[in-house]
Amino acid sequence: MYCCRCKREASLYIKSYNSAFCNDCFVYSFLRRLQQTIDKFKMFSANDNILVAVSGGVDSLSLWDALNCLGYNTEGLHINLGIGDYSHLSQKITEDFSHKRNLKLNCINIKDIFKRGIEEIAKIYKRISCRTCGMIKRYIMNKETENYSCLATGHNLDDEAAALFGNIINWQEGFLSRQYPVLEERDTLKRKVKPFIFILEQEIAYYAYIKKIKYIEDECPLSLNSPSSFYKNILNQIELKMPGVKSRFLKGFLEREYFKNKGFTSSLNKCKICGYLTVAETCNFCRLREKVSQVVGIKN
Ligand code: SF4
Ligand code: ZN
Repeated sequence: MYCCRCKREASLYIKSYNSAFCNDCFVYSFLRRLQQTIDKFKMFSANDNILVAVSGGVDSLSLWDALNCLGYNTEGLHINLGIGDYSHLSQKITEDFSHKRNLKLNCINIKDIFKRGIEEIAKIYKRISCRTCGMIKRYIMNKETENYSCLATGHNLDDEAAALFGNIINWQEGFLSRQYPVLEERDTLKRKVKPFIFILEQEIAYYAYIKKIKYIEDECPLSLNSPSSFYKNILNQIELKMPGVKSRFLKGFLEREYFKNKGFTSSLNKCKICGYLTVAETCNFCRLREKVSQVVGIKN
């Protein structure tokens, strides 16, 4: 098999695109497509300072590496979730990555805020771990983006197609209207971008392999029953029979006028405690802090 770009011997094949590449041409085309997505959605420019959310996983570290290679001005944000060895290792890998490339990393430990890790917080909140974790991460990431142009996350095509699938089968219209590669800044909600939205999980894994990026290979131990893993598995099964279907599904959705509404379906107020935009009087994060403080005695 030969590389579709330079015609030398190929080292990898991507079934979804029916294309083979040598390592050099793959990295070239990967970075080119990333740049095209950034330009198409006007995500950011060379003058912006971008905060990259880095978990220690393959997607976020590859994104930070790729944006750095393209010459963007970036810093990292790592949130330690207090999930035992998994969180220790994630933070260590992220720190090693940033030291090696001389990039600035900001770390937040949720135990400094709640005195508890995600699993215990979720029990107090009486919600599943991933839901609690997602809400806490969104809040902290938004707050930490205060002095940056935008927050970039490593969500890839597989993640977004799975989220879309879940939002459609449950008719979560509020989420559907916000599922876009760029969420514009609104009041206390900072600008958020997803530069990997058109890049497959498999391509990111190849990129990390070629660039020798070390990342945490274990799945989060709390992810086992997450709905998104379930939706991803279903889409992967369809993809096996119909290569390219994930990409067509997501791109088709983004092209439809009805869903191009980047606004919010419900009106938002400012949280009476922290000022964060919320549908209720007090935001979920402040409500959770209150609840946890009653159990573990944190002073607000
Ligand atoms: Fe958080 Fe769930 Fe992701 Fe683990 S799998 S990091 S608990 S959202
Ligand atoms: Zn609040």
